[in-house]
Amino acid sequence: MAQKRKPSKKKKPAAKRPQRKKPAARRPQHKKPAAKRPQSKKPATKIPPVEEILFRVEGKMSTFGGPKDTGMSTDEGLALFAPTDLQNPKYSYLFLPTPPPGITGLGRRLNPDKYYFACRWNYNDTPKEFLKRALARVENPLNGRAADARPVDWGPNIATGRVADLSPGLAAALGLETDDVVRITISALRAIPVKPGKAVKGSKEAKQAAPVSRPAALAKPVVKQFVRSPNCSCRQVGTKIDKIVLHCTEGSLASALAEFQQNDSRKVSAHYVIDRNGDIYQMVNDADCANHCMGANHGSIGIEHVGSETDSLAPPQAAASAALIRWLLQEHQIPRTNIFGHDFTPGYCRPGGTSCPDKLFGPVHSQATIAAWVAANV
Ligand SMILES: [Zn+2]
Repeated sequence: MAQKRKPSKKKKPAAKRPQRKKPAARRPQHKKPAAKRPQSKKPATKIPPVEEILFRVEGKMSTFGGPKDTGMSTDEGLALFAPTDLQNPKYSYLFLPTPPPGITGLGRRLNPDKYYFACRWNYNDTPKEFLKRALARVENPLNGRAADARPVDWGPNIATGRVADLSPGLAAALGLETDDVVRITISALRAIPVKPGKAVKGSKEAKQAAPVSRPAALAKPVVKQFVRSPNCSCRQVGTKIDKIVLHCTEGSLASALAEFQQNDSRKVSAHYVIDRNGDIYQMVNDADCANHCMGANHGSIGIEHVGSETDSLAPPQAAASAALIRWLLQEHQIPRTNIFGHDFTPGYCRPGGTSCPDKLFGPVHSQATIAAWVAANV
């Protein structure tokens, strides 16, 4: 929620106060101090344990890849990927579905909106096969923004004085411009969750083996009730659902369901609303576009979590959310790296303009917090 708000800043402190005093009518869900105390332990469990750092670099960056990167030749390839990888669903999302005119190499076929990067790897320490499976944390140390991204290439040339090249989309999401400082970390722990099924390696024999080793299809978590919201539209033809946006209702279940059913005011909605007891309500079909994250609605699924600005997720709610996210990732083939907090969603028209999803996923309002929760729970 909270795409509403310019007023959000005003609204927020107001909402906080009542909750402590546990006062009146407006936000009935705050009858819940009892539920809150146990949750405050939660952040501890959300932060992944000590991670073995396998690669870390900090220094200047630039951007690369995609059709507009004239610094790459039309047939330039990538150190970590071969054309056969285009058949592999674990990797193919990094590339444009068809080669841009005149482009034969993979470098300029990269989808510049996806999150990838290049560093000068030492393949003895971080072998290519490991890097292909790795998920790195890429941070802007100046503003604290962070995102997960995939290594795709070796570079930049040492003569540039830079340590990394990022995709244009990743750089934009982190608020980085050429020669800003970036920090990149790959840890053993973070690499594990993205390890693809071994058989999905893109070759023909792998294709045959794939069905065997692919994880069994997950069942969709039970939806307690479909409460239809009128505030939705058809997705544009050909739009791929490629991200999940996490929200905090900053209000009660009842108020969220009511607001999303009104079409005479802000006309907002979300695909799902998860109550603090873990009940999942659906309000918009996945196939349709909900109005939850202005600028990034077209390819996203929005999940609201009932809570106040200072709440953590309640344990059953966290479990329900993780189960729903797992199912959505599989159902729509969404990369794990594309799970964002509202304020940090690429394309969101007012980054930094909302406090949503507040402290639900950890003590700090940051994408790094969301990513850590995802790594630990999903
Ligand atoms: Zn929100």
